[in-house]
Amino acid sequence: MEIKKKYVYIGVAASVVAIGVGIYFSRRKIYEHFDYKTDLLLLSLEPKFRKKIKQLLSRARDKGIELRVISAHRDCAEQNKLYAKGRTAPGKIVTNARCGKSSHNYKRAVDVVEFKNGKPLWKNSNWDKIGLMGEALGLEWGGRWKSIKDKPHFQNLRGKTIASLYREYQRTGKLAA
Ligand SMILES: [Zn+2]
Repeated sequence: MEIKKKYVYIGVAASVVAIGVGIYFSRRKIYEHFDYKTDLLLLSLEPKFRKKIKQLLSRARDKGIELRVISAHRDCAEQNKLYAKGRTAPGKIVTNARCGKSSHNYKRAVDVVEFKNGKPLWKNSNWDKIGLMGEALGLEWGGRWKSIKDKPHFQNLRGKTIASLYREYQRTGKLAA
């Protein structure tokens, strides 16, 4: 009788541990699949461009690549802060664009990166594949740029130029500092 009781206790303890481990890993998986930041950033984009980026994310997902949006619309303050990096502020230079000179200021650009196990893969052998996927959707890919190669960057100005958008925004007062 004593021995049987012992096995019951061991059985119960083992089950509790197994359930605990199961819950821990499934929760981790669940959190990995809810990417609120990407959803929020997508909302900041111009609607037609947003649709394209959603397509890019879903095509990548079909190929087993989990892309997340890490930057989308930037207002003047954010853009100028980025421009200051490596110039008047510490760090490396990351952009040549002041406020008004980046497609991010016009809601027509995103930066994406592949995530694996909750971590961004900056050095990624999939970059070319990701770039081609974006280009197939008619997006311009920063990985082709000559001055600062910007692999996470995709944009679509749809026939407009930064200069024409700049004038349009200046006229309508949308480019507030
Ligand atoms: Zn960018």
